[in-house]
Formats: sequence, structure tokens, C-alpha cells
Amino acid sequence: MDRFAVIGDPITHSLSPVMQEAAFRRVGIHARYEAQRVPAERLAEHVAGLREMGYRGFNVTVPHKVSIVPLLDNLAATAMRAGAVNTVSIRDGKSFGDNTDVPGFTAALRTLGLDLHGLPVTVIGAGGSARAVVLALSGAGARLTIVNRSPENARQLLQALDVRADICSNGDLRAAVVVGRSALVINTTPLGMAGAPQESPLPSGVTLAAGAVAVDLVYGDETPFLASARAQGCRTMDGLEMLVQQGAESFRIWTGLEPDLAVMRDACRRGLREALTC
Ligand code: NDP
Repeated sequence: MDRFAVIGDPITHSLSPVMQEAAFRRVGIHARYEAQRVPAERLAEHVAGLREMGYRGFNVTVPHKVSIVPLLDNLAATAMRAGAVNTVSIRDGKSFGDNTDVPGFTAALRTLGLDLHGLPVTVIGAGGSARAVVLALSGAGARLTIVNRSPENARQLLQALDVRADICSNGDLRAAVVVGRSALVINTTPLGMAGAPQESPLPSGVTLAAGAVAVDLVYGDETPFLASARAQGCRTMDGLEMLVQQGAESFRIWTGLEPDLAVMRDACRRGLREALTC
């Protein structure tokens, strides 16, 4: 039986095991995919262990996406550009790191049917997931502004990615103007996620443009950010489609096969319902 895993800390509520096992079953691959909690100080030892135990591959989530980079033998171009890895394949004892958050976000956004070229877009947050979002959007030619609690972190992110964008802080009056002129506003902060503060990253009173689209990378219950956008009449999308699309890309890398996206979406929705009832 082929073995796969997702490593992170915390990891208990990851939907990746149910999503990937459903995808493997659908194509007739007998595989086990486990969620493994790995504290930062045990990352190197754990990755070496997965290789020795014959795992075919694993996903990497918070907080290891950047710190795993120097532990791998090879990196795909997207992972190198992002400076972050969320998918590792092990072949002939060697580890290859890739980043499927970038194509996963692009694919999720494609379902909205927006023409991103020249589109004014605000990205809220400048953490690990913002790296993938900013790379995907800048690659598509969007006009970007990053709104972040700490403008310095936003500056560092842009420098690391070699991308140009305006920057302002959440409380800045300019943020209200920028958000009000954006056709697409994306929350990449954890605000609204289970266990995080249930609040919007935008100060109350900041309104989105008429007809704007609001996207949140958080999935599960509707976040205060998306609830406010919906109340303003905006189209909204949560993070579930990105989760499915990045998982589908990992599956393609590991198996060379096309996964059944509907099966993966259903498995995630089922996993969410079960998490809510336990
Ligand atoms: P990080 O911890 O790397 O980044 C968090 C960002 O949010 C930072 O820019 C931080 O600002 C900002 N932030 C945190 N708390 C607050 C606050 N109280 N007020 C304002 N800003 C705040 O997280 P990630 O980028 O890795 O993940 C963010 C979210 O995206 C998580 O909920 C995660 O589950 C979700 N996600 C979803 C994916 C999907 O497939 N749908 C994929 C990846 C992530 P500062 O820089 O000032 O510290």
C-alpha cells in the first residue's frame, strides 16, 4: 500500500486525509494518507523518517512551508520562486518540493470567470498563503495592493517574490479608498477561521465596490469578512475550492493521474460537516 501524509502543527482538523483518500479510492489506488503533527524542532528528523519508511509523498502545511525548503533535494520552479513548499514527492530516495498553492489558487479563481489583467485587486495579509496568492495574481497581470497589519512584513514579502505592489496597513485611511476601488478583495489572514478571532480584517465602515468579488482563503463557517461582503451584495467565494484545487495538483504530481474533483469536493464537505458535529 502506498503511504502519504500531511505534516503540520496543529493538524487535527486537516481535511486533506479524507479528500486525498477519496481521490485515491476513486482511481483504484490502494493508499493511506495520514495527518501527522510535527512540531518545528522535529521537522528535519521527521522528514528523514518519512523518506526511510518509503512514503511516496506528503503535503506540508503551517508552520513548515518555508522551513522545509533547505531539507529537500530538489525544488520545482514555482516552489523556488515562492520560497515555500506544500507538496513533496519521494522518488528513488530523493525528495522533490513543489508548491501547488499557486496553481490551486489560480484554478479556484478561474471558476469566478474574472479577467485579471489590469484588474485592481486588494490582498489582505502578507503571511505564507499570501505568497501564493500574490504570485498567482501578479503572474496574471492584476494591479495589486497589499493591506497588512504590519506594512514591513508586506514589504518583505514583495521583496522576496520580486513583485511590485502598493502597500498600506489595515487601519490606514488609504486602505478604505483602495478597498473601495478594488474589483476583487482577498482575505489571506486567519481571521474568521475556527479558533481565530471572529472578526473582519477590515475596520467597520470600510465598504467594497459595487459588483466587487470577495474571496476568503478560510473555509468552513462563513467568515465575518464574507458575511459583510455578501450583505453588501458582493459575490463571495471561500477557501474550499482552493483547498480542493491545490490537493488535486498534489495528486497529479504523485500519481500522474487526473483526480475526480467532484469526489474531492464532496469528501471535504462531508469532513467539514463531521468536524462541526464532533
Ligand atoms: P500566516 O500566519 O502565515 O499569516 C497571517 C497573516 O495574517 C499575516 O500577514 C498577519 O499579519 C495577518 N494577521 C494575523 N492575525 C491578524 C489580526 N488579528 N489582524 C490583522 N491581521 C492579522 O497564515 P497563512 O497565510 O499561512 O494562513 C492564513 C489563512 O489562510 C489560514 O486561515 C489558513 O487556514 C488559510 N489557508 C487556506 C488555504 C486553502 O487552501 N484554502 C491554503 C493556505 C492557507 P502580520 O504580518 O502583521 O503578522
